[in-house]
Amino acid sequence: MKYEAVIGLEVHAQVFTESKIFCGCSTKFGQPPNSQTCPICLGHPGVLPVLNRKVVEQGIRMGLATHCKIAPYARFARKNYFYPDLPKGYQISMYELPLAEHGLVEIAVGGKMREIGLTRIHMEEDAGKNLHEGIEGASHVDLNRAGVPLLEIVSEPDLRTPEEAVAYLKKLREILVYTGVSDADMEKGNFRCDANVSLRPAGSEKFGTRAEIKNMNSFRFVQKAIEYEIARQEKILEEGGKVVQETRLWDAKSGMTFSMRSKEEAHDYRYFPEPDLVPLAVDQKWIDEIAATLPELPDAKRKRFVSEYQIPEYDAVILTGSQALAAFFEETVRLYPKPKNVSNWVMGDLLRELNNENKEIGQAQVRPRQLAAMLKMIEAGTISGKIAKTVFEEMYRSGADPEKIVEEKGLVQVSDESALEGVIDEVMTANPKEVEGYRAGKEKLLGFFVGQVMKRSGGKANPGKLNELLKKKLQT
Ligand code: ADP
Ligand code: MG
Ligand code: ZN
Repeated sequence: MKYEAVIGLEVHAQVFTESKIFCGCSTKFGQPPNSQTCPICLGHPGVLPVLNRKVVEQGIRMGLATHCKIAPYARFARKNYFYPDLPKGYQISMYELPLAEHGLVEIAVGGKMREIGLTRIHMEEDAGKNLHEGIEGASHVDLNRAGVPLLEIVSEPDLRTPEEAVAYLKKLREILVYTGVSDADMEKGNFRCDANVSLRPAGSEKFGTRAEIKNMNSFRFVQKAIEYEIARQEKILEEGGKVVQETRLWDAKSGMTFSMRSKEEAHDYRYFPEPDLVPLAVDQKWIDEIAATLPELPDAKRKRFVSEYQIPEYDAVILTGSQALAAFFEETVRLYPKPKNVSNWVMGDLLRELNNENKEIGQAQVRPRQLAAMLKMIEAGTISGKIAKTVFEEMYRSGADPEKIVEEKGLVQVSDESALEGVIDEVMTANPKEVEGYRAGKEKLLGFFVGQVMKRSGGKANPGKLNELLKKKLQT
């Protein structure tokens, strides 16, 4: 490609708190419309906001987890605009003095690690929701979400491909979940993203004009929207045109982005310092206290997995995707200390089953103790690797212990020589031509005999033993 894409992302994550950012109303999702409101979040005149300390704490936690500098002095600002879901006529946000700045996040794409800069993290309140569906000739407004705390996380224009953008979002989401700052539940809209995209001639230092694609809440949409946007801008530039700075909307149905408003129509938000809230002075002692509560973060865990368990980076990235998955892996390895073996089963069979059902590891029936027990049975030769697939499936489905499954279903591997010899004799009697052929030098026929014996024994013959016995019998 002649052009290089430049991408910067603005993420909105709902902060995990019991109550809203400036009042005591609950943040619980899915309640009856307007049942979680009060004069403050309804924007009645004369009321005063009171800052929820927990939101600041969560913001600092996220700042620390992304290596930001926490501002010793921060300030809320009013962002003024008119919309029915915003009864005050302004949103309390932060502008010149955000909570945290100059952070970084590590991403892995195509086996390469890259550092992506974070410009800033600030706190703000969410707006309500306009409801149009199923209402004839009118729209309704639900203000349960008004005043729900958000963190806005803005990246530097450091991303270069749609894949990097998605890897960055996944990493941010992981950090939010690891730290307990947000559940980042995308289906509930608790983690959404605006993507700024521009192109420049490959090798050029100067940034091109950007378009901003608004409000996407799935990794796939972000990927597709950025791909579409790069192609759209490339075509414009190839035809000698100019990209205009504008806000665009992604339409999942058509797989295209559409112009929403141009720069000329852009809002002038008339930001000014929020006079109803005192500036925020965060002292170092509080920052240190919060720092002490941080869990082991995804990057640190990933690095530890590579060095401690000697597994490939790729495995470590996947296994540290969530704390629960990482814990499952570590507990299994503790009971069966062959990490790469365990990793193969977790990343292969276990994740496949979970993905099929769109489930998280916490919802799985199978426990580390059971996977470890099954791996020990393979190692001891009690079951073959092939049979283990069946055992695992059953274990995953019913949560039963592998020993019980193997016993009840009669899946024990046949290693007993006399039992195997019996089957081999049957096969040899039934296939005299092949026996002759083998004895005349067609050694390739060994595979045929292995297959036949396996078939007759329901896949339960111990392959090593079988090979050994077959060769002996066929030669004599
Ligand atoms: P605004 O508030 O108007 O959205 P910002 O300066 O805060 O503007 O930038 C928002 C996002 O746009 C940031 O993530 C930033 O990295 C990104 N960005 C800025 N310039 C460009 C560009 N030329 N191409 C792509 N992204 C850009
Ligand atoms: Mg923006
Ligand atoms: Zn309220």
